[in-house]
Amino acid sequence: MDREYKVIIGLEVHVELKTNTKIFCSCKSDFSSDPNTNICPVCLGLPGGLPRLNKKVVEYAIMAGLSTNCSIRERGRQDRKNYFYPDSPKAYQISQDDLPICYDGYLDISAGGREKEIGIERIHIEEDAGKLIHDEGETLVDFNRAGVPLIEIVTLPVLEDEEQVVDFLQKLRNIMIYTGISDARMNEGSFRCDVNISLSKDSNILGTRAEIKNLNSFNSIRKAIKIEIKRQEEVLREGGSVVQETRGYDDNRSITYSMREKEEEGDYRYFPDPDLAPIFISREFLNRINDKLPELAHDRKNKYMKKYGLNSYDAEQVIISKEVADFFEECMKYTSYSKTLVNILVSEIFSLSDPKEFDINIKAEYLGELVNFLEEGKISNNGSKKVINIMNKSGGRPEEIIKENSLGQINDTKRLEDLASEALENNGKAAEEYKSGKKKALQSIIGEIMRETRGRANPKLIKDILEEKLKTRS
Ligand code: ZN
Ligand code: MN
Repeated sequence: MDREYKVIIGLEVHVELKTNTKIFCSCKSDFSSDPNTNICPVCLGLPGGLPRLNKKVVEYAIMAGLSTNCSIRERGRQDRKNYFYPDSPKAYQISQDDLPICYDGYLDISAGGREKEIGIERIHIEEDAGKLIHDEGETLVDFNRAGVPLIEIVTLPVLEDEEQVVDFLQKLRNIMIYTGISDARMNEGSFRCDVNISLSKDSNILGTRAEIKNLNSFNSIRKAIKIEIKRQEEVLREGGSVVQETRGYDDNRSITYSMREKEEEGDYRYFPDPDLAPIFISREFLNRINDKLPELAHDRKNKYMKKYGLNSYDAEQVIISKEVADFFEECMKYTSYSKTLVNILVSEIFSLSDPKEFDINIKAEYLGELVNFLEEGKISNNGSKKVINIMNKSGGRPEEIIKENSLGQINDTKRLEDLASEALENNGKAAEEYKSGKKKALQSIIGEIMRETRGRANPKLIKDILEEKLKTRS
């Protein structure tokens, strides 16, 4: 679609790191505990409290950087970003200004079938704030989250629409989960995204941007972007100008609304934190992390296409989460029918367990066996569904479940011949109709045999036998 204005979008993504302790103290990094139980003088910013950087935070930030093609800075620094906010106890946040740990990376996206490289300007480490709880006219503050480590990932302003944004974020989120550095749960705020949008008539000049804060689902991101683009278009068309500000998004009313005027860089008065030593990242440390880095979703997708012959779409289904991909690989040790396995995963297994929080009671070995039975015609599609449900409850082996519940497919020709003869006997009218050219009539005869055998007759064989019998009957 040709737009009157060119849309330019940049993202700032905050990801909560899954460390045991906070970034500058040894308090537990768990903010689901009772309010204000995981706190100490350091994370409360009390006089005399001195921060000490958690090494794991640097390690995780480097993992994020290496998996997004970033360069890793050998000598970094931490800075104070000064602003007051009631849930931030120090009136400044320890962040990184001009020397972030990672810089100049990118991720490839393929929204709408078009490959595009999305540049990542930087990834820096910083501390999270506490949480305000508004309750019947009162506001309470919980500092458990104050000092929980974050990385902030900043893209270049190169995204053009909501589909590109969502594609980028899904890829990024997957990487966070695959590397194990974060749960990246959007609804719990461990993966949150601010979207900067600007419109311009001249594609060489960036327009004034508005930032939409704290979007917590892919759906609301998609909707908020569309709404904000429309709003800015209307402002510009009426000859007005867009105000540089921070806006919220109200899903119920389908609007974005002004929250506050956006600070300029200078308002933060960044300066190096005098309590923290510079960060030095040695070659050895970097190599050690590089060696530990797990295989990423993108690599696995390519492997599944090459090694197991999956098409791109099916491979995407499997890498939806690390748990599913691990399970798929385990199953493939017991079967060679990758395509049938993917079909069963998507149509049956994903309805037993959300693939993003994958947890099932079925052994990979047993599912592999069941796929073989399906391919060998020992069980029907319908029968396999029943076996899967029973397996998930009892954890049992498909062979035994099929026997115990008489779920095996009837492939015995003699038995099928008898069933066919009997059905033709009982359905004289349908048989006549078939012979007079109404091919559909055959379905009702097959249907009766299926009812009779509770779906166990091999549908392909029974169809062939019926057609043969009808041909020879005069
Ligand atoms: Zn603490
Ligand atoms: Mn930040």
